[in-house]
Amino acid sequence: MTGYLAPIRINGAGPTGSLLAFGLANFGYSIHLFDPLSADQICSRSRAYALTQSSRRFLTRLGLWDELLPYLSPFKTLSLEDRGIDQSVNFTELDLHSANRPSQSVGWILDHCALMKLLMSHLESSNNVKLFLGEAANQSAFFSHDFGLVIAADGPRSPTRTQFRLPWWSHSYAQGCLTAKVRFRDIDSEKAFECFRPEGPLAILPLGNNDFQVVWSAPFDRCRQLAGLDTSAFLDELCTILPHGLEPDSLLDSPAAFPLEISFAPKLHRDNVVLVGESGHRCHPVGGQGLNLCWRDTETLLQLMTSASCVRRGLKAVPGNYTRLRFFDLITVGLATDLLVRLFSNRQSALLIVRRLGLFMLKHSPLFRRVSLQAMSDGPSTLLHNLPN
Ligand SMILES: Cc1cc2nc3c(=O)[nH]c(=O)nc-3n(C[C@H](O)[C@H](O)[C@H](O)COP(=O)(O)OP(=O)(O)OC[C@H]3O[C@@H](n4cnc5c(N)ncnc54)[C@H](O)[C@@H]3O)c2cc1C
Repeated sequence: MTGYLAPIRINGAGPTGSLLAFGLANFGYSIHLFDPLSADQICSRSRAYALTQSSRRFLTRLGLWDELLPYLSPFKTLSLEDRGIDQSVNFTELDLHSANRPSQSVGWILDHCALMKLLMSHLESSNNVKLFLGEAANQSAFFSHDFGLVIAADGPRSPTRTQFRLPWWSHSYAQGCLTAKVRFRDIDSEKAFECFRPEGPLAILPLGNNDFQVVWSAPFDRCRQLAGLDTSAFLDELCTILPHGLEPDSLLDSPAAFPLEISFAPKLHRDNVVLVGESGHRCHPVGGQGLNLCWRDTETLLQLMTSASCVRRGLKAVPGNYTRLRFFDLITVGLATDLLVRLFSNRQSALLIVRRLGLFMLKHSPLFRRVSLQAMSDGPSTLLHNLPN
């Protein structure tokens, strides 16, 4: 499809902005993609993403899933452990919704570099995409009416959101988060772990072979102190919190500490400016929801911009419809992650009873496990509809 007069401006070429640029360019939109970082800098972040079934379905629709397969580390078991009450439960393929069973995995881990290199190579070779990266992005101020839409995908500190004065609500957690890539000895490379500990959740996500991404939540000062330790002292500290039987062998990158917050833009648009990904919301990394939620924004916006009514009537109704359609998913996932952190990061006896009951139900009810996994993996809003096959 061709013939849109004004190009679409996307600010931010992270995983959200780049994937949206790819999808829109394939449909014939003319895209101007801006990022103050160079392509090499964009691709070189040391991070791994836990992908859920909603992301698998979206990437498959975009034709990218097969290309990403060599870089995906599937996990067939997710072990959820509550250290406070010393109980654990495993989610396996058998707990997947029937529409997700053929994928044969509970989830996948994808390295940021592999993802971004693939997206960048597609964008660089597309006739519909003009890249303004690094120095080239430092152009003078722009006017939103020069573009069909201005899409802010410029992350949680979004300069575009500030420029167009979109409201933003934010609450900082006392917890921070430390990420590190670690090699383990004699470990099941198809198992992921989410451990709820009183100081915060700990995720251990398989990257292939014996390598894992550790996402360790704890008071922010402690995260910073841990990030400053030398390798052997860091591995010693890690040993003290790992699930039974896990033994670290070596550290593969430099641990980095991040502050954590829950943030939300109550309105995701103003005129023709739209917020997607972390420019519009941010939540605690517990459950690895972050990027999956950003890509559900991308999918909704793409569906609206490629719908028959948009093709007939233009982009005018898209921003308002986008805000309306994304509200439920963003609110429920934000609140659910917040609730999980609060519920599991304290030792009040009434809450310990709730946790015991929750873990008991998960352990003994396959239906409860299937519904919980679907909410985590496809988004809570899918519980109200049928899942597409
Ligand atoms: C410690 C940690 C662990 C995480 N683990 C997971 C996980 O396991 N699974 C998961 O799904 N998610 C995870 N996340 C969340 C995930 O990293 C984010 O959801 C994801 O990076 C959001 O992508 P984005 O493209 O919206 O924003 P970003 O990745 O922040 O990209 C924003 C882009 O905008 C660019 N930019 C900045 N200013 C401008 C400007 N003025 N103009 C144009 N461009 C600009 C930046 O250079 C950047 O390239 C984690 C986050 C953290 C902090």
